[in-house]
Amino acid sequence: MEFRWLTPFTTGCERENKRGDLSASIKRLDNTMKVVEISDTRKITIIEKVEPQIVNPDDVIIRVAAVSICGTDVHTFTNTHPFVKPPVVVGHECSGVVTAIGSKVKSVKIGDRVAVDPVLGCGTCTPCTIGRPNACAEVKCRGVHVEGAMQEFFKIREQDVYVLPDSLSDTVLGAAIEPFAIGAQAVWRGGVRSGQNMVIFGAGPIGLTTMLMAKVRGAECILVDLKDDRLDNAIRLGAAAAIRADADDLKEQVRGVTGDQGVLVTCDAVGNPDIVDRCVELVDPTGTVILLGMDGSQNNVTELDIFRKELTVVGSRMNSGMFPTVLDLVGQDQLPLSEILTHRFSCERADHAFDMAIEQPDGFIKAVITF
Ligand SMILES: [Zn+2]
Ligand SMILES: [Zn+2]
Repeated sequence: MEFRWLTPFTTGCERENKRGDLSASIKRLDNTMKVVEISDTRKITIIEKVEPQIVNPDDVIIRVAAVSICGTDVHTFTNTHPFVKPPVVVGHECSGVVTAIGSKVKSVKIGDRVAVDPVLGCGTCTPCTIGRPNACAEVKCRGVHVEGAMQEFFKIREQDVYVLPDSLSDTVLGAAIEPFAIGAQAVWRGGVRSGQNMVIFGAGPIGLTTMLMAKVRGAECILVDLKDDRLDNAIRLGAAAAIRADADDLKEQVRGVTGDQGVLVTCDAVGNPDIVDRCVELVDPTGTVILLGMDGSQNNVTELDIFRKELTVVGSRMNSGMFPTVLDLVGQDQLPLSEILTHRFSCERADHAFDMAIEQPDGFIKAVITF
């Protein structure tokens, strides 16, 4: 079907208004809540904290329903993240129910079920004012640069919350909106169109959500990965083909699937300099290479490689205003959220959720912690 892609919209600035307008709050002032803290390397501690209170007129407090675990969170858990160190509260893929709103909040009301966009721009620089706060030099992501959602109650701004469609009866699944927004961003940045063939390196959660968003756009996707069960997941979710990354005849296998049509989009959903090289090598002239990874090392791509095929190379970072697009598709039952969130854990068992995200047993795509 034809789907209109919303252009990313302008986000407002982070306000510093501390006047503390009275709000419609239904919580007691001295309530404490459970918080899942990564307290040390591979150690989770459930701590108690005072529940957040409405301070600014655009504050929204949600009772967190679910937070899914991302690769970034796993790095923090294993203490291998470059700058996020325990003790810390992570979580940037979250859903919940609104329990309190500031006096100026119009777009949501108490009781609404919502998903949270974790991207926080400075609000005043050029990227922020053109609706692309994800590329702000000062950008922060909740759960990475600032406190995350793994707590019973979570305070965000009105502009960060998006109401879930009524047809999505399971609020927990709202935690998957953010990873789909990453996929939507990649597909938007890459200008993926109907009838195109796309090769995605990496069949993890982001490779899969990128594939699913590209399929909505009418593209056919070939997924490449080193793990057989990930390739199985890709096929189950609708990949045209799934090929082992270590296959000597990868290029021929891709050709075998696409025929004369070729490959006009390649995507690195792993973040590895070798894959950047392979993306540039595999894409056909006039094509686009989408880079979703964040590896800082050198690769072997030369100016001539880009020049000769007249390639477009785009970066894609988090998302800029893609939640409405994803939620529209969810409302039309076009995205298999439940297939991505494969394993559920109560917050008391959060340590098991992280362990599973490290072990990655067959059939595993994402673990989600429920509150
Ligand atoms: Zn993530
Ligand atoms: Zn900014």
